[in-house]
Amino acid sequence: MALRFYNTLSQQVEEFRPQEDKLVRMYTCGPTVYNFAHIGNFRTFVFIDLLRRWLLARGYGLDHVMNITDVEDKIIRSALEQHKSLKEYTATYEKAFFEDAAELRLTQPERWVRATEHISEMAAAIEKLGEKGYTYESDGSIYFRIASFPDYGKLSHNDFSGIRAGARVDVDSYEKGDARDFVLWKSAKDGEPFWDTPIGPGRPGWHIECSVMAIEYLGETLDIHAGGVDLIFPHHENEIAQSTALTGKPFARYWLHSEFLLVDGQKMSKSLGNFYTLRDVLERGYPPETVRYLLASVPYRKQLNFTFEGLKSAATAVERLRNFAWRLDHEKFPAGGNEKLGLRTAQAEQQFYQSLDDDLNTAEALGAVFEYLRDANTAMDAGGFRADNEAAARGFLQRFDSIFDVLRPSAQQGSLSDAVVEERIAARTEAKKSRNFGEADRIREELVAQGIILEDTKDGVRWKRK
Ligand code: AMP
Ligand code: ZN
Repeated sequence: MALRFYNTLSQQVEEFRPQEDKLVRMYTCGPTVYNFAHIGNFRTFVFIDLLRRWLLARGYGLDHVMNITDVEDKIIRSALEQHKSLKEYTATYEKAFFEDAAELRLTQPERWVRATEHISEMAAAIEKLGEKGYTYESDGSIYFRIASFPDYGKLSHNDFSGIRAGARVDVDSYEKGDARDFVLWKSAKDGEPFWDTPIGPGRPGWHIECSVMAIEYLGETLDIHAGGVDLIFPHHENEIAQSTALTGKPFARYWLHSEFLLVDGQKMSKSLGNFYTLRDVLERGYPPETVRYLLASVPYRKQLNFTFEGLKSAATAVERLRNFAWRLDHEKFPAGGNEKLGLRTAQAEQQFYQSLDDDLNTAEALGAVFEYLRDANTAMDAGGFRADNEAAARGFLQRFDSIFDVLRPSAQQGSLSDAVVEERIAARTEAKKSRNFGEADRIREELVAQGIILEDTKDGVRWKRK
């Protein structure tokens, strides 16, 4: 079966066909660099990374643009408070974002674009919208008249036909019930940064940013537009209105939205204060690939409740994968082949592919991998895993890792917390008890690589840092 995605626009799973046979034009909304990104934000960016990797694995070329929102209400407020210029203020968080993204092994889009570097294009687009009769001005600010765009509400599946004409909203984010004419251009206010343009002094609203940069780099109709579910309304609804009003063409063909990372049943968010940055989690001794695994393990359209228990299970899953890779590298298998196991490998790999083709069902794909690992480990223990089975097993593991990218331990010498070291030692003791000496050795080696020395004494295991 072909590659399929759930399209928020049609509310259906659809077969994916880009406009050009083998090229995907994709725009995804990037970070607002006003603070450190939290791991909820990174759930969405890990999803985007998996999407990229899967499209590439399926033979598509990518032209993917991601924006950096570096001018916006919250940024301006914080920069003013700290007496910093916009650029000075955002540079810190932009750098932090790229560092965290690298830790999480996020592949880079073909192009990063900054809002502040496209102001004149935005002003020109707003001017054009004005010429076409979609805008009006009030106190130097310019608004999009949503009553002039009958399709407004098509993405979020809301009927906005009864809303009050002429009511407007100046802030960039607002709730569904609050559909009003939204701001395209904000007039310059005392002390705030502004740009002098043919449409007057001011700065762009958030929504116009993405429309203008997407069209500039990718053309009038995109194949995929993606982001978190909180962007469906108003951000993406507004993007569709502006872009279609500008070009007369459909803006994007497939709209993909990832669900929230939750904490105790609530969205992880800055405003609720219930968030962890990646740095917070790493400081507790969890390696970044564990976080990556956790965020990737639940299909993107399902909510995921974050707990440290969940992170520990993710660590265990990564361990199992590494243990299998270690066995493939270190154990000597009897000559010959086991045909049944060969078929089993091919079947598992097919299941893995089919699951990801099915709207990136990562949970099912991982299920296929772990069921295979169980069978292959059992065969190894019983001498049924033969030398000729090795290449296929290795190939499958490599192809798995080209998407999930968790096998390679990250180099963070000596930064494991006591709790994580104790947990690893307990896992090693457990492995020894069940006579799984390969696994026990491997855990010791891994700890040594992190600068942890183990000493087996008659009273149990003692450990120290190098
Ligand atoms: P922002 O930096 O606030 O513009 O957000 C960046 C991305 O993170 C957007 O695509 C949001 O939809 C997404 N996002 C924000 N909070 C969460 C969350 N708790 N879980 C998943 N994605 C989120
Ligand atoms: Zn956007």
